[in-house]
Amino acid sequence: MLVCPVRDCRLELARAEGRVFCSRGHSFDVARSGYINLLQPQDKRSKNPGDTAEAVAARRRLHDRGVTRPLLEGIAGMIAAGADDVVLDAGCGDGFYLASLARESGFEAHGIDISIPAVDAAAKRYPSCEWIVANADRFIPYADRSFSLVLSITGRMNAGEFRRVLRDDGRLLVALAAPEDLIELRGTGRDRVERTVEGFAKDFALADQRRVTTSADLDASGVGDVLLSIYRPMRAGPAVAMQVTFSLDLLLFRPV
Ligand SMILES: [Zn+2]
Repeated sequence: MLVCPVRDCRLELARAEGRVFCSRGHSFDVARSGYINLLQPQDKRSKNPGDTAEAVAARRRLHDRGVTRPLLEGIAGMIAAGADDVVLDAGCGDGFYLASLARESGFEAHGIDISIPAVDAAAKRYPSCEWIVANADRFIPYADRSFSLVLSITGRMNAGEFRRVLRDDGRLLVALAAPEDLIELRGTGRDRVERTVEGFAKDFALADQRRVTTSADLDASGVGDVLLSIYRPMRAGPAVAMQVTFSLDLLLFRPV
């Protein structure tokens, strides 16, 4: 299902020991932890794009505390995935959501993210899924109609590419930070549902919509991890213990 990311190539990639390659001779190493870096020089916005190792580690510690478990359960209830599904998580981060859902449902799981530290962390902890470094804003390195389900969980959204890699009877789950998400740390956010539905309207129709909200009593180090994992915190200064709200708008789309 993987295709060559070299511009204008797009031939199928075959696997050999320690690498993947296309028949034009483009070749990509499989990293020691098992992921494949298909990021092309023109797809990078900076030398080390995406989440830093520090942000990835902080987010993983929050997942490990269990604070995001209700969000995971909300997503699981909405997608109702089964063992027959073939799933792409575009912007998979440290792999928590995709791998947890795959473990519960038994589906075939593929995660892509632009951050090497994130994908490396995912590959190390969840070796049964396939992990790819790529820029989904530009190109998702999979053949047309490879997936029955595409997930975009607080990630970047590329409606055209999501539609291309999704089967005609597939579904797309988009999770957006809801207005109350981290309200204690950055104030009330925008409601982005309407704008997102409009942005997808050419390729997708909204089939279902839910909001899932949870809160956690975090100690100072937990609040510090939340601050490390977000980009524009409102609060300055050292983290102190507090209750923090986590809230996602979940949108389920079908291709039109
Ligand atoms: Zn090629």
